[in-house]
Amino acid sequence: MTTLEKIELKNFKSFKKLSLDIPKGFTAIVGPNGSGKSNIVDAILFVLGKTSAKKLRANKFSGLITYHNGKRADFAEVCIYFLNENDTFKTFNINADRVGILRRIKKSGESNYYLIWKDNDKEKRRKMSKQEIIDLFRKLGLLGNNVISQGDLLRIINVSPIERRKIIDEISGIAEFDEKKKKAEEE
Ligand code: ATP
Ligand code: MG
Repeated sequence: MTTLEKIELKNFKSFKKLSLDIPKGFTAIVGPNGSGKSNIVDAILFVLGKTSAKKLRANKFSGLITYHNGKRADFAEVCIYFLNENDTFKTFNINADRVGILRRIKKSGESNYYLIWKDNDKEKRRKMSKQEIIDLFRKLGLLGNNVISQGDLLRIINVSPIERRKIIDEISGIAEFDEKKKKAEEE
């Protein structure tokens, strides 16, 4: 199991700075319309590697960076911290209790990944290649679709039971195996 502990946002959408501890168990984020609840979910999806700005509800990638008083900040950063369970990060010689995966995006649209951890109270940062990040997400079980968006939820409520089952299969990743099964049976 992968335990998400904390999320930190810098200049991401409506948040100049936000640090959110995720306690054990069930977490709900509540607040008035437009207060930024979905932006927090977008921030998580951003770190998990969403490559489409539209899916993160922005026109273009640089639209994810905070726009305030007629000015866009220079960069946006989102870091999600995981407990270092099952020696996940040992491959990187990291023994800290918690390790952050940080994605940073510049105004130019250039984006980079880093691992962040503490070593004797000193913050350490290690740049990650695209392949290293993909391998790490696979190890953490974070590849694929783990999030049901606000739009999906409305879609699920409004369709017939058969359509609903299809959407759930799609979201949970079962649809992929159905296709593979069908192909295998045809061979
Ligand atoms: P609802 O309850 O309606 O779903 P919500 O809490 O999910 O609302 P969000 O959609 O997360 O709200 O937040 C929308 C707000 O984020 C809008 O006010 C929008 O102007 C602001 N926002 C989005 N991108 C940026 C940006 N780059 N800079 C500043 N503010 C932004
Ligand atoms: Mg919302």
